[in-house]
Order: sequence, then C-alpha cells, then structure tokens
Amino acid sequence: MPETRNWTFVLDTGCPECGFAPGGLTPAEAATRVRSALPGWAAVLLGATAAVRPAPEVWSPVEYAAHVRDLCRLLPARLATMLSFDDPAFANWDQDAAAAAYGSLPPAEISADLAAWAAAAAAALEAAPSTDSVLGRTGRRGDGTRLTVAELCATLVHEVEHHLRDAGGTVSSSAADDHAEIRTVVARFFAAFVSGPDAAEHAADLHAVLLPEAVVVSAAGDTPVTYDVDGFVAPRASVLASGALEGFREWEVAGRTDLHGDIAQHWCAYAKSWTESGSPAQGAGMKSLQLVRTAAGWRISAVAWDDEPR
Ligand SMILES: [Zn+2]
Repeated sequence: MPETRNWTFVLDTGCPECGFAPGGLTPAEAATRVRSALPGWAAVLLGATAAVRPAPEVWSPVEYAAHVRDLCRLLPARLATMLSFDDPAFANWDQDAAAAAYGSLPPAEISADLAAWAAAAAAALEAAPSTDSVLGRTGRRGDGTRLTVAELCATLVHEVEHHLRDAGGTVSSSAADDHAEIRTVVARFFAAFVSGPDAAEHAADLHAVLLPEAVVVSAAGDTPVTYDVDGFVAPRASVLASGALEGFREWEVAGRTDLHGDIAQHWCAYAKSWTESGSPAQGAGMKSLQLVRTAAGWRISAVAWDDEPR
C-alpha cells in the first residue's frame, strides 16, 4: 500500500510523480492548498467507480479519500501539540489498522467526512501564526521522523494533492491562485487603515479593492450603520490624515476564506492600535468580507464588522 512509504523524502527532493516542490509551507499556504483540493476530491468521489479498486493492489478513490481524511483529522492535535510543547512525540496512529475499514465506506459518506475534516485541518492551520519561530518548531512521528511545522504543513498538502492524483482527480491550480489573490485584496484592505500623510493613497487603495457599489456595515454600535463606499472611505481618510490618531494601524490576526466559482467570503479576527491624546489605545473585533470576481479581479462587495467592547 502506498501509505506505508515514507513520504518525507518529498521535503528534500520534491515529488517526481506529482511535481510537488521541495521545502516546507507556511500554515496559511497549507490551508489554502488543502481547501483548493476539496472540489477535486468531491468530483472524484461522485464517480461511478469511486468505490472500485482499479487493480487488486491499488486503492480505490474511496480508500485514498479515507486515508487523506484521517491525516486531516490528525493534523489539528499534532499542530497544537507542536505549538504547545518542545519537540513532542505524536500519539501513535496505526494507519494499517485504520485502512482495513476504508474499503467498505460509502462514497457519499466519505466525501462529506473528508470535506469536514479537511475544513477542520485548514481552520487549525489558519489559526497558527506563520512566524519563523513557529515554522521551525518540531514534533516526532511514531517512526521517529522529526518534522518542523513547515514540514508538517508540506507533508499534509502533498498527501492531499498526490492522493487526489492517485484517485484520478486533478488539483485545481486556479483555486489556489484565487485564494492568493483574495489574500492580497484583504491585506490591501487592512493596510489602508493607517494614519499619516499618505491617507489619500490609502483611500485610493480602498477604492481599488472595494466594488464601487459595495455595502459597508458597522455593527459595532447599538444599531447597525450602513455606508456606501464614499461614505465609508472619506471620513476615515480624513481622520487618519488629521493627526488625531497617532500611529493608527489595523491588521488581520487570523482568518479564513471560503470560495466557490465567482463568489467568496473572508471571515477574520482583526486588531487595531493607536495613540490618542497621548494614551495608547487598542481594539479588536471580527470582520466579514464578501468578495466577487470581476473582469478586473476579485473585489470586496460587502463588509460588516463588530468590535469587542473596550
Ligand atoms: Zn507526490
């Protein structure tokens, strides 16, 4: 069975079979690629032969999917252990024993199961910081192989993508591209909220990433306040340029993007800090961004946010 191979060689050399590039991945990159592979897995498991082995010694798509589901299921706990302890040994997992039951699983059930556990793995990855100190933290598998967080991320993505190929599916590179572009749009949105003399440029950035007809809603007060783009951007640009808020900046703490076709939503925690009348101030909250694909690229069609009480 292919799962008994030690796939960690891929980290050093890349994978000659599927073209996976050598090296580690950040948790955010891994989350994007795991999510991007899910439509391919769903398609494969809808196939008429999803439960059929193409040859006696070759797994069926269902068996590959169940294996990948189990790897996704293991990921959150392994990642949490690596982030909480120094060089922990992972709890043992008998993958041969697990595999014995794979063949009898109904394709629809394993499809839903894989989607749920892959989403859980992606959420755990998105919640992990991508700093160098985190990427270099280590853990040890039952066979003694020591992996860094970056390597754990890369091995998971490789298994998700390589086995999708084994199962007769294709990895959509366009979904990964969409996720990357949306990350850039969201980053540009947050980066625009910074005080200083470049307020006009930042306002232009906001106009660039917001659909002209976008709706912006603050739910931070007692009743929701709804803005059109100009009504949202102009007063903020003017406050940020005024010098009233010194050193103001706002940034995303952690977030996730769900995407289908030409629509997407980005759900994230954010924080902000500034100095007002000589005193340091800070805030935090959640933002929900809705995005649509336009001829010019991904644009934010709606924003709603709520702040933590200060
Ligand atoms: Zn491969």
